[in-house]
Amino acid sequence: MKIRLFLLTGSLAFFLLSCQPNTSSDMDENKDQAFDEFKNHFIEKLWEIYPDWATYEGYYKYADVLSIPNKESEKKQLGFIQSMRDSLKSFPLLSLKSNNRADLKMIENFLNSTEWEIKKFKQGEWNPAQYNVGGSINRILISEYKPTDGKLRDILNKMENIPTYYATAKSNLKNPTKEHTGLGIQQNEGALTVFGDKLLDSLNQSNLNGEEKKLFKKRMDNAKTAINDYIGFLKKTETENNKKEKGWKDFRIGGELFSQKFEYDIVSEFTAEEMYQKALAHKDDLHQEMIRISHEIWEKHMGQKKKPEKELLMVKELIEKISERHVNRKDFIKAIRTQIPELNAFVKEKDLLYLDPTKPLEVRPTPEYMRGFAGASISSPGPYDKNAPTYYNVTPLDHYDNAGAESYLREYNYYVLQILNIHEAIPGHYAQLVYANKSPSLIKSVLGNGAMVEGWAVYTERMMLEEGYGNHEPEMWLMYNKWNMRVTCNTIIDYGIHVLDWDEDKVMDILLNEAFQEKAEAEGKWKRATVSQVQLCSYFSGFKEIYEFREQLKKEKGEAFKLKDFHEKFLSFGSAPVKYVKKLMN
Ligand code: ZN
Ligand code: ZN
Repeated sequence: MKIRLFLLTGSLAFFLLSCQPNTSSDMDENKDQAFDEFKNHFIEKLWEIYPDWATYEGYYKYADVLSIPNKESEKKQLGFIQSMRDSLKSFPLLSLKSNNRADLKMIENFLNSTEWEIKKFKQGEWNPAQYNVGGSINRILISEYKPTDGKLRDILNKMENIPTYYATAKSNLKNPTKEHTGLGIQQNEGALTVFGDKLLDSLNQSNLNGEEKKLFKKRMDNAKTAINDYIGFLKKTETENNKKEKGWKDFRIGGELFSQKFEYDIVSEFTAEEMYQKALAHKDDLHQEMIRISHEIWEKHMGQKKKPEKELLMVKELIEKISERHVNRKDFIKAIRTQIPELNAFVKEKDLLYLDPTKPLEVRPTPEYMRGFAGASISSPGPYDKNAPTYYNVTPLDHYDNAGAESYLREYNYYVLQILNIHEAIPGHYAQLVYANKSPSLIKSVLGNGAMVEGWAVYTERMMLEEGYGNHEPEMWLMYNKWNMRVTCNTIIDYGIHVLDWDEDKVMDILLNEAFQEKAEAEGKWKRATVSQVQLCSYFSGFKEIYEFREQLKKEKGEAFKLKDFHEKFLSFGSAPVKYVKKLMN
């Protein structure tokens, strides 16, 4: 009951906001022009301060710079925040056009969140995994922004300060957590591989002169020594802290920090606590729905077999049975490739969203350097390379033994595979990205909101099924509910662990018995929740907020509501937080 009340107050408050007098007549072209100039200046400064981030976004001017995480760099960041805040004072929100208003709010949120990270969250003191030079150097190697010789010279410069970098890291770490220390060791061992034979080969084949080659090798050795030394330092910390009674800082960040991080990262109209309550209620709804469907189709799949007394066990058994319907191991990528045009056709036929036919999506096996993470992902062109193709990466099942492949294929069975394709491709992430790239805002690409992006993809799964994708088959809905339970429980356990102090047993019980997950999956989720905070909330939070917003508009507009208009308008603002998009759409 409490939740419904929250909902009501939420939408009422929203109404009042949207009834503000229309100020469009006061809008001033010059203000927007000046703001556009400010944004360019902001981004240019941002890249100067965060060179690695720039490299990841495809901006290579600072590819040869390694920023040392010391007090001086902190001071530089705080100075940047102050000067940007000062500049923002000359842009009152209402003097700008709607798209720029969202950009302004996003910049403000970024400044506040960065300041909070430096002054309050202080991850650099307790997260050893934060220090790693492997990623950005690997990024340089795999990018094609200049010929190899030039890239090697960038790396040569960048390597100079690696020993100082790791020495600073060691002195920053005051009270690491056990979990982040383990992750720091593992990921820096990964970083060592970047400085291996492959890099040496490309150095030997390059046209760098003898002096340069000599220096390169020396710096490479120094880098490896520094990384090894850092790993050794972390391992020693591990041994020592394990011996002590209270050696480790708890990885749980607690209620206050969690609520604040939720505000900065998710940017929702709801608090972390409210979202947690929504997720709990949604879990109950999903269970009711799954139980109802299971009673309906039990006999069809299980024949005369007796239903287990506990209803959740009945659901679990049925899910296991239905998961047997899956593609062959060797046809995995092919199955995905054939589904994309089918999804395209469905979206067109039902008039759900315009899909730009000039931006095709290419399904490919995940490149080697990206493997080891998700089984499927979207590689989108960055903000500096909008015309590059978009790839749907699917990791082939080569590295699995038979049992492993079977378990994976059961997880991504006939039904779930279709939902996955909706999520990753059409009309999920890929379609959203095409729209985001049309809205020409570097701010929204660079400071894009994860909850909006993931929320949209999760929203489209349900929307497609509601519109009749899968012919309203009860099996499809059952599997969808299980799939949706995953994101729902992501929010529940994230909040439960960090705020309510839940332990591994409690979390495993929920994931295995209430969310019907495989043991390996549940264990991986526990691990992920111990080294991240709030990120696991983004999927459900974004989904819930988009879905509720749509339902509210449907009610208000009645017959006049058109799904296609809603989707296109919603996506037209780029990857801005749902909270801002809602305001802009009113
Ligand atoms: Zn099988
Ligand atoms: Zn996603």
